[in-house]
Amino acid sequence: MASETGISVEFYSSGYCTAHERIVDPVNGKGACKFYAVWALFQVPGIGWVMFDTGYGPSFWEATQKFPARFYRWATPVFLKENESAKKILETKGIAPSDIKYIIISHFHADHIGGLRDFPETSFICSKSANQQVKGKKGFGAVSKGILHGLLPEDYEKRLFYIDGFADRVEVNASGITVYRLFGQEELQLILLPGHARGMLGFILQNDHRHMLYGTDASWFYSCYDQGILPNQVVRIFFDSWNDFQITQMKIRAYENAHPEASILFTHCPETLKYLDHAV
Ligand SMILES: [Zn+2]
Repeated sequence: MASETGISVEFYSSGYCTAHERIVDPVNGKGACKFYAVWALFQVPGIGWVMFDTGYGPSFWEATQKFPARFYRWATPVFLKENESAKKILETKGIAPSDIKYIIISHFHADHIGGLRDFPETSFICSKSANQQVKGKKGFGAVSKGILHGLLPEDYEKRLFYIDGFADRVEVNASGITVYRLFGQEELQLILLPGHARGMLGFILQNDHRHMLYGTDASWFYSCYDQGILPNQVVRIFFDSWNDFQITQMKIRAYENAHPEASILFTHCPETLKYLDHAV
């Protein structure tokens, strides 16, 4: 998916967890399902390599060794081979951790930030509200919201930029989605998708080659979002705001209606696996 003049994007996955499909799709779910931890790699002219999330990473095992974090492992059994971490995948492409200029953190769930500790020189970008929630929750309160502090590098806040201030400009698009322009270019916008997690980010990439809205975890399956099927009630406790989750889906729907040519992708959706450049 290389672009000759603009931003290129490639998708990879680092590990997966298993859960019953009925949790995600109470109507059509059948059996156990794999939820791949997809992340994206951008090459941004004038900036360099930028990642969007990292998938799971080896620090997951250490971070979930003790209680209450151990509950996280029980709730979502994780599978990650050593050569599947973002760091190892990048190595096969000749990209060193220090070559990654920024990692955009969509939200602080383990399947999105599990690799952060492998990038000791990289700067991070997230929304202010996402990090404020991380700082405000401790112990089981944090784990119940999917936050594992052990995955965060000790100095991560020193390397952290809030998109709210980092962006070149912030606006609300015609679909009601808050969009952030960054890196002095127009092709890539970060978008605010609250609900599943506080201050969650996704992105819109629009150039001559591709128009996509990457909705992160605003839905797990495109089919559910498309048919208006909401996840099982059991996940409500782990979501930040059920109301915002539904409003965010309505805004994505408005965007898709206005831009029927755009691909709507979600991190863990089986449809997204078709975009992976790395075999899974
Ligand atoms: Zn999540």
